[in-house]
Amino acid sequence: MSQKNNMPGKVYRTRDPEASPFYKLVEKYFDEFERVYPDRYGLRFGFWRPIIRRAIDKFLKCGDLRHGFARVRCPKCNEEFFVAFSCKQRGCCPSCDQKRALVLGHRLRNEVLADVPHRQWVFTIPKRLRVYFRFTRHLLGKLCKAAYETVYEVMQLEIGEEDFLPAMVGAIQTFGSLTNWHSHVHGIVAEGVFTPDGHFIAVPYPQLQRQRAEEIWRDKVFDLLFDEGLIDLETIGSMMVWKHSGFNIDTSVRIEAGDHDGMQRLVEYISRCPFSLARMIKLTDDDKVLYRANHANCTRYPMFGKEMDLRPGMSRNYQVFEPLDFLASVTQHIPNKGEHQIRYYGWYSNKSRGMRADKRKTINNDSIDEPLTEYQLKRRITWAALIKCVYEVDPLKCPNCGEEMRVISFFEAKTQADVIKRILKHCGLWKNKEPRPPPLRILKPPDVEQSEPQCDYSFFDDIALCDSF
Ligand SMILES: [Zn+2]
Ligand SMILES: [Zn+2]
Repeated sequence: MSQKNNMPGKVYRTRDPEASPFYKLVEKYFDEFERVYPDRYGLRFGFWRPIIRRAIDKFLKCGDLRHGFARVRCPKCNEEFFVAFSCKQRGCCPSCDQKRALVLGHRLRNEVLADVPHRQWVFTIPKRLRVYFRFTRHLLGKLCKAAYETVYEVMQLEIGEEDFLPAMVGAIQTFGSLTNWHSHVHGIVAEGVFTPDGHFIAVPYPQLQRQRAEEIWRDKVFDLLFDEGLIDLETIGSMMVWKHSGFNIDTSVRIEAGDHDGMQRLVEYISRCPFSLARMIKLTDDDKVLYRANHANCTRYPMFGKEMDLRPGMSRNYQVFEPLDFLASVTQHIPNKGEHQIRYYGWYSNKSRGMRADKRKTINNDSIDEPLTEYQLKRRITWAALIKCVYEVDPLKCPNCGEEMRVISFFEAKTQADVIKRILKHCGLWKNKEPRPPPLRILKPPDVEQSEPQCDYSFFDDIALCDSF
């Protein structure tokens, strides 16, 4: 959807962020939510995390021209428009999460995943233990590592030797389908293992001993929580005799080698926003949120599951939230700074991929037609990705003639608020609503020398950074 007018400097926007029911809810209730949080939610959701305020403040500016934009022009037909900056927040901006998922999918396909079949492994834990990961969030990374170690041991049972590496990309998810707390791990796991010289040994899944795998997973999670002093032997003993242990591993989703679309859908699924605007089906007159689960018909991603395969889960498929309760439920999933939700293990770890890149560089040293190194490739992808992430749309393509457009100037609210207001007023794009005041904290004085926008490059690092194992 584009919004244009005849003034110089058109605006091109893919969406109207302020029209979303979530935006309206946040704008109206967030301050009250923060104020009452310690009394009303502290006990259940843990102490107030300042990241929540920071992320929400940025979310409210996402896509709003008043907070800065780039001016782009087509060198061929002189088409021109403004592109607002996006907020790049995790877990509270569906638009930015979606963009991040696209970048991640691109990166995995082009730089990380081998051209072999993969399985999705979904590692879940009993409800009783999930709460520990809410209050001690750094344990989420350890949970993901325990999932990889489980894969390693299961593969070892099949292969019977030690000199190999499984390949896994792990995604930490903290939410269930009704935005409830549900810490679990999704793994994109190669359907086999790699030898040190890069030979792939397929491990057919029917062979996998599922029950044994779930026992290994259970023991690893118990060890993790016991070592942290969070559970004792008595608790472990009592949980060991549960008929349904609650430790599950689902490996039913398979992605064939070369199925790029299937992989992209899977990546988007495992890195999606904790809530979906499409599922916020209604705001009632008193602002209650009617939210529906994604599994309304008990479908399973990415294909329909047979009814008998379905795991027991939440039987409700909708929930009515009070506005503040909805904010509490959603914001608990905003990750802390430095909390990496995507992690790389084994053959896909940073270390392994770095070693392979070095080796390729050595081999290619003397060749005349040298292919791009992984570093060069990464730089190229990073730039293309950043362009799309920093702006609201891809500013490189002219909607009139398809020519590559150029950014001709940037306008940043931090240093050019007056200029921005003047331009937007001139173009009839200024909204009279006063921008939301900043939160109460000490702001750094603006750097007047600065002419380039301060892009938050850590955004891309957030998804590019990996855990080596
Ligand atoms: Zn053009
Ligand atoms: Zn955003």
